[in-house]
Amino acid sequence: MIAPDAEYRGFYPESMKTKANELDAVVSEIQQYLGFLKTVGCPGVDLGQKSIDIIRSWEKTDPIVAERSVPVSLSAVFDAFLQCRRCGLADTKMASVFGAGAENAQLMFIGFAPEKGDEITGRPYTGKEGALLTRIIEAMGLDRNSVYISHAVKCFLQEGRLPGKWEARACRYYLVRQVQAIKPSVICVLGETAASALLRSHMPFERIRGKFQDFEGILVMPTYDLAHLLAEPSAKRPVWEDMQKIMKKLDSGGNTPRGGTS
Ligand code: SF4
Repeated sequence: MIAPDAEYRGFYPESMKTKANELDAVVSEIQQYLGFLKTVGCPGVDLGQKSIDIIRSWEKTDPIVAERSVPVSLSAVFDAFLQCRRCGLADTKMASVFGAGAENAQLMFIGFAPEKGDEITGRPYTGKEGALLTRIIEAMGLDRNSVYISHAVKCFLQEGRLPGKWEARACRYYLVRQVQAIKPSVICVLGETAASALLRSHMPFERIRGKFQDFEGILVMPTYDLAHLLAEPSAKRPVWEDMQKIMKKLDSGGNTPRGGTS
């Protein structure tokens, strides 16, 4: 059962209550703005019951935490994900891919969206990009079962069709809770869209690529995405340099510096 608003907030530490308040304010603003657009006759404003229901579902803020209290468990996130209707991809997806790997992984890789082949296996990065990622992980002296691999947007559309920012914002709910459940020492985000989905950084990607960023106290290394790496072999060198920085941090026990360090 989902606890009523005032009740579930009692589970949160102060920092999370602030986030819950901010989310409620954003949802309220979206509703008001859509209402305004409809009032002035703006075409293309979708105020159908389905859209309203999706937006309202966001107001419940965090059923995963509300039902089970902190800390977040990966199985609770998975249970919620199985019933997800937070964005329109729930109706148009070919498949959804939650993530796979060690639940206590020290290193987590996050790409943007499932690649061709993942819709069949139900696992992340099982196509050409995945084969390259496996080689990178092994070159780091690790294996795929010792890390956790996931995507910012978890539903697979048709081949060649990528999700948009709206879907990334909706699906971030699961990504953040996956990270909170796994608590890795280091996260490697693969590509600009994955980096911006997690970090919400407005910095140009080239400014943050190769430099550790911070997400809730966890070191985040943005590097090039695997599709770019396959198309542009010259990107392998900077990516390998980024991986070496990650290995150094893992060897030294993980997270110390915060924000924009190299
Ligand atoms: S993309 Fe994410 S938020 Fe949208 S339906 Fe799929 S799992 Fe839910």
